[in-house]
Amino acid sequence: MKYSELRTRNDCLKILSDARWADGFYCPKCTYKDKSNIITDRGLSCCKNCRTQISPTSGTIFQDVRRLPEWFHIIETLLGDQDGLSHADLKSQFSDFDKKAILKCHNKIRDIFEDIEKPALQGRIFVCCRFVGSDQERKSERRKRPLIALAAELDDNISVKRIKLEYLLDNNGHVFFHRLIDDINDYIGRMLYAQDISEEKKEEALEVCDARMQVINTEMTQAMNNFINNVIIAGQSTVLYDPDYHKNESLTLQGTPHIFVQQFHDDINDIFEKLDSYLNKCRVAPNSKNSKKCFSEFVFSKNHGSLTTSDKFELFIKKAVCK
Ligand SMILES: [Zn+2]
Repeated sequence: MKYSELRTRNDCLKILSDARWADGFYCPKCTYKDKSNIITDRGLSCCKNCRTQISPTSGTIFQDVRRLPEWFHIIETLLGDQDGLSHADLKSQFSDFDKKAILKCHNKIRDIFEDIEKPALQGRIFVCCRFVGSDQERKSERRKRPLIALAAELDDNISVKRIKLEYLLDNNGHVFFHRLIDDINDYIGRMLYAQDISEEKKEEALEVCDARMQVINTEMTQAMNNFINNVIIAGQSTVLYDPDYHKNESLTLQGTPHIFVQQFHDDINDIFEKLDSYLNKCRVAPNSKNSKKCFSEFVFSKNHGSLTTSDKFELFIKKAVCK
């Protein structure tokens, strides 16, 4: 079924109502489990016991949405895209629609993606982090190229099943790269490249540089450990560290078995490349406030890549109406 072909509000209400009460009607007010027929023109169900009229949209992201067919169309478009669409992509694809309504719809959809992706990872988890998302044309943003942590649950064939992403910040809430640049370029770099720098000064500069790198490394380690602890089920997981962490032995999780693997996972390289191009498409670069939302549809599309659009739609609607 093509959801974009649903033309009327009632078509959409029928789908929401079927999903919401797939196991039978349930009155949210009196918990009674029977109803009279749907009052079709407004899609309401009426509780036989307390006579409360309940819309399939009430208490969901669809509550008070007037143009349901348009929302369904946007949802289907997002679900059909393998690599995630930005606000800008949606605005250009739906140029007839109200821009504010698209933005609102997109944000609500992202909330549902976040909900769907909430369960923690377990089993064998590959973890790594990388600086992602730069764009030659946006020099001001390049400076803030964020460090993104990735955890991937692997199946028996070592293929990636599900991923989680997080935007890593240092203890002061700054972007790691930003601080690194400040430290190395502005301070150390100035000293090192000065024409008349003495050997003694050079030595001192290198020492300062080294000390600062160590502070940053320790903070990166802490941030990674926090991330891992947040996204895995402890006691049911083994963590596989990317080879780069040989350098950083302090990255060990208490109580969780871990292995340093020899090779970087090819699928993960591929995911980072796609994430890079997705983030470059987003007009607003990810930051500490918007990153979870920003990653949500990318993560959803990676984690459900094997489903058809209509299966994804079903999963989405079910989550959206059944809290
Ligand atoms: Zn009732």
